[in-house]
Amino acid sequence: MVFTVKDRCRVCYTCLRECPVKAIKIINGQAEVIHERCIGCGNCIKVCSQDAKVYLKGIDEAFVLLGGGKKIIACIAPSFPAEFAEFEDHKILVGMIRELGFDYVTEVAFGADLVAKEYRDLLSNGNESPSISSDCPAIVYYIEHYYPEFVPYLAGIASPMVVMTRVVKEKYGNDCYVIFIGPCIAKKAETNEVDEVLTFRELRKMFEIRNILPSNIIPTEFDPPLAGKGAIFPMSGGLLSTSELHTDLFEGDILIAEGRINIRDAVKEFEEGLVNTRHLELLCCEGCYMGAGMSPEGRKFSRRNRISNYVSKKLQALDVEEHKKNIELYTNLDLRTSFIPRDRRIIKPLEPDIEIVLQTMGKYSAKDLLNCGACGYDTCEDHAVAIFQGLAENEMCLPYTIEKLHNYIGELNISNEKLATAQQALQQSEKLASMGQLSAGIAHELNNPLGVITMYSNILMDEVPAEHPMRTDLQLIVDQADRCKKIVAGLLNFARKNQVNFCDVNVCTIIEHSISSVVVPDNINISLEVSISDPDARIDSDQMTQVFTNLIKNAIDAMPYGGVLKILIDGDENEVSFSFSDTGTGINPEDMGKLFTPFFTTKGIGKGTGLGLPIIYGIVKMHKGNINVISNIDPVKGKTGTTFTISIPRIGNI
Ligand code: ADP
Ligand code: MG
Repeated sequence: MVFTVKDRCRVCYTCLRECPVKAIKIINGQAEVIHERCIGCGNCIKVCSQDAKVYLKGIDEAFVLLGGGKKIIACIAPSFPAEFAEFEDHKILVGMIRELGFDYVTEVAFGADLVAKEYRDLLSNGNESPSISSDCPAIVYYIEHYYPEFVPYLAGIASPMVVMTRVVKEKYGNDCYVIFIGPCIAKKAETNEVDEVLTFRELRKMFEIRNILPSNIIPTEFDPPLAGKGAIFPMSGGLLSTSELHTDLFEGDILIAEGRINIRDAVKEFEEGLVNTRHLELLCCEGCYMGAGMSPEGRKFSRRNRISNYVSKKLQALDVEEHKKNIELYTNLDLRTSFIPRDRRIIKPLEPDIEIVLQTMGKYSAKDLLNCGACGYDTCEDHAVAIFQGLAENEMCLPYTIEKLHNYIGELNISNEKLATAQQALQQSEKLASMGQLSAGIAHELNNPLGVITMYSNILMDEVPAEHPMRTDLQLIVDQADRCKKIVAGLLNFARKNQVNFCDVNVCTIIEHSISSVVVPDNINISLEVSISDPDARIDSDQMTQVFTNLIKNAIDAMPYGGVLKILIDGDENEVSFSFSDTGTGINPEDMGKLFTPFFTTKGIGKGTGLGLPIIYGIVKMHKGNINVISNIDPVKGKTGTTFTISIPRIGNI
């Protein structure tokens, strides 16, 4: 009967929250009505602010019947004054309905008069077995589907709609179509006795389609039989007033409950034996005039007020004798109906299964069960049961989803940081690559003329006698040309895209060899600590020697007044790491970002080339390793010094 328009559904779970039988399944974040569980109360239609819930329309079918050649009778539900508030006189509405092509327009309230009499008989006959009213079809489905054991308690009295259908067929002949028009969508599936069920909203639509306006209508009265007090039936307690039962029965004999929460509680308490009553009068909506087939904007008390005004006016004008005669005329009409249990309950999972589901939502103990209702279920346990039954999803739990989101944000922050570091590294290596290209080009071009300078200055040196005054100048040329050669060699080294020559080596041996190849001043003490159990790794020993000697030289340069250089070899099964901690001057924080930039040096002219660390960086990266620097320049913060840590995967270039 009820469907979801998926494009409109914004998954707020309001429909689920308002559904008394939880006939709404949330799957992939979409609310879907489970037809076999739905009782057609239409609560979901009323509460959906997005108009995402719609019901089956019968307008086309009604137009077909209207053109079908048979006599056609409209049975109008007694809540019509609440819907059509714009008409001072109900006769205008009746005229408009006739204009649609109906041969007779009758009021269901007469059926209600008969039904009320039947209830009065039922409850006054001293019958001890309790009964449940059977005039609201949503209540009937509710009992049939969810309390099948209570089906025998259903009063078995046909609804005013069905009774009126029988009346008009008796009066106007069987060979006619009957269309019920009312506020209820559950009625659409109530019976086959009625040919079509329309809502008041659909009736308005039909007026619109046929362009029927109140201005050019001849007002007419309903066709007989006219109703009496039954017109008050759609109000909660209406049955009571209509049948005047309150004059005969004690208070408590009849329990009236209306609205989704009250009816559920009433039946539950009745089931638990807490309610000792002779009759449960249940209305799914808070009065039929609040049904889902009404126009949405109406307010409860003004609607109620309009119905009572209509009824009191009607009763004043009622031909009591005629009404009495009519009631008697149909006393022998069959007013009974029967119901069959249709159990739609889903077996509840066992306690341990529910607990497992609760745990998947981070609910481990009673204090985690907030029962906040945000998911649409009354309790966390109900939600867990629905998840187990495949009707709901974990994500519907707001606290759980918020926590998950917090975690996601945390993870995102971490990967953001990682990304920023990777980006920095990428920029650095790009910079180095282009610097490398440039350096290689310059170095190549300089190499030949430098060779010539070196060669000829040496020849001249050989030819010039030892005591010649030009000799010191020549010596300067030779020395400086040698220095240039070293710089050029360094540049070539830096720019070299050499393949790494991986071989299995003992890293301790390489470090020891590196230390011994550097001239260490007396005021500097180098200590070596080996914390690694397996010193073998696949690395390029020549290149790594270069790395280590460069680091040792830098450390020595940083300790002009002496100090200690601690070298630590560490690692695990995956990598080897080397850290070089000196007690030198430290590195200025502003210089930290420039360390690996070629030609960056803080050393005086003729002392540093600024190529040591860029070369180290290149080699370490070719080994797929990492290089990390921490340094302190400020004695206030602690001992000054620098630690370079290099970690290299053991397995070589795989
Ligand atoms: P160079 O040694 O030729 O200056 P490097 O690339 O080896 O070039 O080093 C660049 C700069 O990094 C150095 O000039 C120095 O400022 C700084 N540096 C490197 N290692 C250390 C260290 N252990 N302590 C302090 N500063 C260092
Ligand atoms: Mg250096």
